[in-house]
Amino acid sequence: MIRTRFAPSPTGYLHIGGARTALFSWAFARHHAGTFILRIEDTDLERSTPESVEAILQAMEWLNLEYDEGPFYQTRRMDRYKEVLTELLASGHAYHCYASKEEVEIMREQQRAAGLKPRYDGRWRPEPGKTLPAIPAGVEPVIRFKNPAEGSVAWADLVKGTIEISNAELDDLIIARPDGSPTYNFCVVVDDWDMKITHVIRGDDHVNNTPRQINILKALGATLPLYGHVPMILGADGERLSKRHGAVSVMQYLEEGFLPEALLNYLARLGWAHGDEEVFSMNQFVEWFNLDSISRSPAKFNPEKLLWVNQQYLKIADNDRLATLVRPFMEQQIGPLADSPALPEVMQLLKERVSTLVELADAAHLFYRYVEPTAELLEQHVSAESLPALQQLTAQFSQIEWTREAINSAIKQAVTDSGLKMPKIAMPLRVIVAGIPQTPSIDATLMLIGQSTVIQRLQQQLGKLVN
Ligand code: GLU
Repeated sequence: MIRTRFAPSPTGYLHIGGARTALFSWAFARHHAGTFILRIEDTDLERSTPESVEAILQAMEWLNLEYDEGPFYQTRRMDRYKEVLTELLASGHAYHCYASKEEVEIMREQQRAAGLKPRYDGRWRPEPGKTLPAIPAGVEPVIRFKNPAEGSVAWADLVKGTIEISNAELDDLIIARPDGSPTYNFCVVVDDWDMKITHVIRGDDHVNNTPRQINILKALGATLPLYGHVPMILGADGERLSKRHGAVSVMQYLEEGFLPEALLNYLARLGWAHGDEEVFSMNQFVEWFNLDSISRSPAKFNPEKLLWVNQQYLKIADNDRLATLVRPFMEQQIGPLADSPALPEVMQLLKERVSTLVELADAAHLFYRYVEPTAELLEQHVSAESLPALQQLTAQFSQIEWTREAINSAIKQAVTDSGLKMPKIAMPLRVIVAGIPQTPSIDATLMLIGQSTVIQRLQQQLGKLVN
């Protein structure tokens, strides 16, 4: 039974990299009909905040990345960590170290001065036949893990291939602080063990932690999970993705008018591929997903491509859903919307022309709020020769049934009767009725704005021009 987890530290928003890690762990579990677990790694009390926890949960919900177990909070598992610490001390896999921070710093400096790699020298590490220093009074010890001195740690990384680290490279890691609180790597180990995680899929910024975690798991007699370390996401400039590259918080994409399925689809392709497929459903992704197809080199974040993917999803999105999503964006700008025209119909007309919900909202405003054309626009588009034709058309509009077809034939008739070219009629219509020269097709636009409104605006503006 496959069990994966996503284990964010709540020290900020869920960012793009975290969301992709969550997506890959989720998809792997789903592909194998396994279990996906959410674990909040909140032991760093100084940097963890309840707001960040909330933000992570919200983002997971928005992205629809459903977890089967959790959220588990490390801060609520302290008793368990202390229990395991006691076990490790008892079995001789961990020991108390009374060296103060300052002492360790001096030790490191001396090593650096001697051209050596700075590391804990093992002065409190018990060995057969070794006499330990006298325990200093009034010092609360840390607990260190007794890392194997010989050999190496190797694992077949599911993304990167075999990785082997010599134990000589690894310090005796501090697993509990002087106040008894367990440290990061130790909590991860106990959790992965207790939660029976079979596959640890995470960013490759954790590769350095893995040999330490494996050694502790071995000391506990735990079954080792398999590890897959996913390469980082870089900005277009090749630097690690950061705020400089635009939005990095997942929820900012909600604010910028992205659909969650579009963001997920884009993230799925960030460092993973199935042939040349670009646009696919999450069901399809789950069916295809495997760790073998994750690229070994870092992926580059491309905001233009994300926009393109979003556009593909907007085109096929349900009109009622789009209306629900776009309404808040619109009302924020122009207040409560009139009932007519029906917002879903406006969505149908506009959704193929935009890349985000924000653009969709902007394009939809004209159907609910009349901005009168400026004098410059009128002068530019309404020529003296088109005036009579527009007046005639206005009269004609009051006599037809208000359908797209009828509007279209009335306009064509006006073109024929006046001998003018189509733009000489259509452009002034746009400018007068919508207040702007760019609208979707003129017949559909007029139809949605409504018969009486169209006639009234034409009369109003033409009246001004004639006088
Ligand atoms: N809490 C870690 C982080 O947010 C992830 C730890 C892990 O996946 O093992 O980077």
